[in-house]
Amino acid sequence: MLGRLRNGCWMLTAAAGSRAGPRAHSSSAASGLLRSQAYIGGRWVEAGDGARFPVQDPTSGRQLAEVADCGPREAREAVRVAYGSWPSWRAATSKERSNLLRKWHDLMIKNKDELARLITAENGKPLQEAFSEILYAASFLEWFSEEARRVYGDVVPTSSPNRRILILKQPIGVASVITPWNFPSAMLTRKVGAALAVGCTVVVKPAEDTPLSALALAELADQAGVPAGVFNVIPSSKSNTPAVGEVLCTDPLVAIISFTGSTATGKILLRHACDTVKKASMELGGNAPFIVFDSADLDLAVAGAVNSKFRNSGQTCVCANRFLVQEGIYDAFVEKMVKAMHRDLLVGSGFDEQTTQGPLINERAVQKVESQVSDAVSRGACIVTGGKRHSFGAMFFEPTLLSNVTTDMLCTQEETFGPLAPVLKFRTEEEAVTIANSTNVGLAGYFYSRDYAQIWRVAEQLEVGIVGVNEGLLSTPEAPFGGIKQSGLGREGSKYGVDDYLEIKYVCFGGL
Ligand code: NAP
Repeated sequence: MLGRLRNGCWMLTAAAGSRAGPRAHSSSAASGLLRSQAYIGGRWVEAGDGARFPVQDPTSGRQLAEVADCGPREAREAVRVAYGSWPSWRAATSKERSNLLRKWHDLMIKNKDELARLITAENGKPLQEAFSEILYAASFLEWFSEEARRVYGDVVPTSSPNRRILILKQPIGVASVITPWNFPSAMLTRKVGAALAVGCTVVVKPAEDTPLSALALAELADQAGVPAGVFNVIPSSKSNTPAVGEVLCTDPLVAIISFTGSTATGKILLRHACDTVKKASMELGGNAPFIVFDSADLDLAVAGAVNSKFRNSGQTCVCANRFLVQEGIYDAFVEKMVKAMHRDLLVGSGFDEQTTQGPLINERAVQKVESQVSDAVSRGACIVTGGKRHSFGAMFFEPTLLSNVTTDMLCTQEETFGPLAPVLKFRTEEEAVTIANSTNVGLAGYFYSRDYAQIWRVAEQLEVGIVGVNEGLLSTPEAPFGGIKQSGLGREGSKYGVDDYLEIKYVCFGGL
């Protein structure tokens, strides 16, 4: 139920759904694919000093496993091994590489339930979303197994009758890959699928919070027959991560650093990479605008808004971060959005079938949402629903909607990475585009309109790499994924996803 307050804020009288507090799910963590050692050169190994770090279930706080804590020494060793395996891998035919990627894909599909349970255990996202992530992750292995056979060069017409120009595309070499916790399987396969397809070898450092998914994929790569040393995984704790990252970005045997994570970390890695002039592929943070024009189909916009904002409890880099709604439909949008949130969002353990909102990844993430809400309220925003930590458990936050939001608030200036939907009011299209573009990042942007001329204008004017027009979910292996401004460098997925892992060589045939 909604009522109206004197100051124009919408006020909620019924809370979003939830269930009883968190329980430990003893059957949650998959057993057959649970690996706790590093995977280097086709062997499961401990860190040299025997160090391990704990992996926790963010829902219950329970320890799931202890994993080998690799440091710079293991990183250098993994790079050396990957470099040693490169000549034979690059010499394999594209069909051989394609077949191995396809086998790896098939094994992911065969083990999809177990892989999904691993994601839910270490990341907390609802099982249905984890299952979707596995299908999405496997789709990159399938896609790049197909692309492996289409890495064409060129023969270029010349102005000299006695010359011919040939252009070859060749694998760049060893790729260092650093992945985040929010899509622990898909961010790995989106990079590794492309790298392996064209003949590069890789060393992966997964996030401290979610190493188990990466290690399970290593087990399946091994079962698929990916040769030793071609794909290596070195988990590390947050205390070892900076030193491991430095090796992965500075070792002369590495040719490219491919990273998905925050813009702040991306800048550190770029600085490391510049001394040896390495190529860099960077998928960094966003601050996606979600614009709803007066001409929009309001119900479609609300459905898209809930999908875009609350998937993975708001922890996706393409999440709607700022809702800009035109004045003629502002009140109706807020009312419908809150109703949809109450109807569709259920907070709880990811292992409960009906849950749609799992925990945030850690305490730092919860604090960030909390501080953005209190900053917004102190500057005049109204809490329409949610607004505080959720009673289900320490890492849970209520799905929250704020109205009366303005552009000076932290929640519009920074990426939230949590279940917070701040709604701003605008008057004109020009104003909406100006607000949308007034940020130094540009990953995804969304807008809803039924005015075709407006659709063309706004799609062209938004300063982002990915645009959703009347659509809130955009990711698919066929389309290029990536941002502009400080959201990154390069594109992943699609026919462009192999480009970062290739060098172009010009060969001139003379004297003909
Ligand atoms: P993060 O702190 O940058 O962590 C991401 C990865 O980088 C983790 O593996 C982390 O390892 C590692 N890392 C952190 N500091 C490092 C350092 N000094 N050297 C080497 N590696 C380092 O990012 P996050 O906050 O966890 O993840 C969320 C961010 O990722 C958001 O900004 C989101 O927008 C972005 N993201 C972008 C995309 C995209 O495609 N553009 C996709 C997903 C997420 P540890 O865990 O061990 O610290």
